[in-house]
Amino acid sequence: MKYKRILLKLSGEALQGASKSTNINPDVLEQYCAEIKALQQEKVEIAIVIGGGNIFRGGQAEALGIDRVQGDYMGMLATVINAMALQSALERHGVYTRLMSGIKMEQVCEPFIRRRAIRHLEKGRIVIFGAGIGNPYFTTDSTASLRAVEVQADVVLKGTRVDGVYTKDPEKFPDATRYTKLSFQEAYEKNLNIMDMTAFTLCMENNLPIIVFDMNKKGNLLKVVKGEEAGTLIS
Ligand code: UDP
Repeated sequence: MKYKRILLKLSGEALQGASKSTNINPDVLEQYCAEIKALQQEKVEIAIVIGGGNIFRGGQAEALGIDRVQGDYMGMLATVINAMALQSALERHGVYTRLMSGIKMEQVCEPFIRRRAIRHLEKGRIVIFGAGIGNPYFTTDSTASLRAVEVQADVVLKGTRVDGVYTKDPEKFPDATRYTKLSFQEAYEKNLNIMDMTAFTLCMENNLPIIVFDMNKKGNLLKVVKGEEAGTLIS
């Protein structure tokens, strides 16, 4: 394995599956668990951040007459719902997990304590970070970068529904081509939308590589962690 400790960022929206008929699609959850378990069996230490966009995003708040900050907290709580679903599905597969939250909610999860998170990882438990960083005006991408730096992960793996970073939006432009590798500087200069600026800068300043890859393709996660070419590496 090229990477020994990883931080996997999953989007909340992806949990809906292609049909989007439900907020949490059990087939998507199953597929994610199988991929993650395969990785754990290879003794890779795994931390996960999952988004909340399938349930609520802070950006939606104002249109609903809800205060922005309140909306952001609602978004953070949404990530906890997804994290709990993922935790439960992983444990059904016999995988040990811990859910750590950026907002204290003792009845459902542990508070985030950096040293404890590292200890869980060393013991082979999958650590899911819920509730973002616990502050409004941030995203789960920023959470992924920050937690990855804090627990000294080797890489941030951004699982998406496209297989990497393209010259332009591949869903709109058929002539778009995929980058296999990029430097942080190139990605910045070309204004490629890999993560929000806060998240991106944190990775760049800490020399923490990011890999954008297609999480829906079977076996891809393992491939990426082995260091095989699948997606786009930003380093
Ligand atoms: N959020 C926040 N602080 C954080 C993490 C998340 O305020 O540290 C809120 C923010 O409103 C965001 C929402 O939680 O819109 C859901 O997270 P995100 O949109 O990043 O989820 P994704 O789009 O990846 O599903």
